[in-house]
Amino acid sequence: MNSTELPGHPHIAYRDNALFVEDVRVSDLARDHGTPLFVYSTASMREALAAYQRGFAGRKLHICYAMKANSSLAMLQFFARQGCGFDIVSGGELERVLAAGGEAGKVIFSGVGKTRAEMRQALQAGILCFNVESEAELEVLSEVATALGKRAPVSIRVNPNVDPKTHPYISTGLKGNKFGVAHERTLATYQRAAALPGLQVVGIDFHIGSQITEVSPYLDATDRLLDLIELIEAAGIPIHHIDFGGGLGINYNGDTPPAADALWQQLFAKLDARGFGDRQFMIEPGRSLVGNAGLCATEVLYLKPGEEKNFCIVDAAMNDLPRPAMYQAYHAIVPLQPRTGSPAQEYDVVGPVCESGDWIGRDRSLAVQQGDQLAVLSAGAYCMAMSSNYNTRGRAAEVLVDGGQAHLIRTRETAADTFRNEHLLP
Ligand SMILES: *Cc1c(COP(=O)(O)O)cnc(C)c1O
Repeated sequence: MNSTELPGHPHIAYRDNALFVEDVRVSDLARDHGTPLFVYSTASMREALAAYQRGFAGRKLHICYAMKANSSLAMLQFFARQGCGFDIVSGGELERVLAAGGEAGKVIFSGVGKTRAEMRQALQAGILCFNVESEAELEVLSEVATALGKRAPVSIRVNPNVDPKTHPYISTGLKGNKFGVAHERTLATYQRAAALPGLQVVGIDFHIGSQITEVSPYLDATDRLLDLIELIEAAGIPIHHIDFGGGLGINYNGDTPPAADALWQQLFAKLDARGFGDRQFMIEPGRSLVGNAGLCATEVLYLKPGEEKNFCIVDAAMNDLPRPAMYQAYHAIVPLQPRTGSPAQEYDVVGPVCESGDWIGRDRSLAVQQGDQLAVLSAGAYCMAMSSNYNTRGRAAEVLVDGGQAHLIRTRETAADTFRNEHLLP
């Protein structure tokens, strides 16, 4: 059998002219479960996780999967079974972790806007750490913890203000954004945290952005973080763990991010040189664990030739795949069954939603006919988790493949599902 793996998409391959995820033919899944359909590869996720584990071999590491990338219960269950904890950003995500069999004691709670109710919920569940993002949040967290007779374990998210001129794509580690505590305020903030009765300082963290494809921003941010740790510890406040956040990119369109183990090899050269190599480390990867493990299968409903553009109208839309509409993001689009010999044409691949922003790919060269099926690649992260019911479209079904086995992990939503919490007037 002739098998060609798609570059950058491990375990997604053509075998005899049909697209497979591991040992399962995607068109068989589309026949059984309909389209649009998300399909994920367990082996791909396992390998992505293993790259981090290799990078930290012999070190003390706790991996918290940043579940906002894909929070479907079975995905969480997979990572929990691999021993991972979770980086959560809401009380709802904590409930998901527990529903999936994850342990509260391995959860860290990030986010700039935690409510008192969420703080209470997380304290009662006994999470590992609150990643605090502002001085005001520290005060409230201490109050909430004190009222419960508890001390909240805290790490403070530092905004390392990595130079935007050299790394303009970094979106969360710059002065001008809402995340973290300013570099200059860090020591004062730690001193305040250490003085508050309801808090226990345990760590420090940063998260400088997402879809980072170079090593240098991590190196720069790490230097700044280590400077701060030296300053804070010299002031008598021990830092138990160092959390480097997530953000490592994936290959969407010829992007060449470092492999996780290569990245960490370079970071450990610095950490070892500065005497920090034997600390307790945490990381919060999201996209890099699941992004290229997933695709979205979709059917071509109509071809619509035009004077300026040809449109390929598919049954997946911006409610299923919001990244192009939200960030003008690129997802590769490939046929499930390539038509050998028929000529390709340029199409804008669009969905049925009534918005011009509802596009999935622009100016794509495709040899397609009505009724063909396509796969939108790199759809494992920030797709289903960001999906909506816009246009009263039920959310797609999801399948998790493991070798030759395909597990339906989410049933397609019906219209009735989408309005089950609504009430008619009396
Ligand atoms: C989103 C987020 C992550 C994960 O980012 P990825 O780019 O998906 O790896 C990690 N930490 C925090 C605080 C986040 O907000």
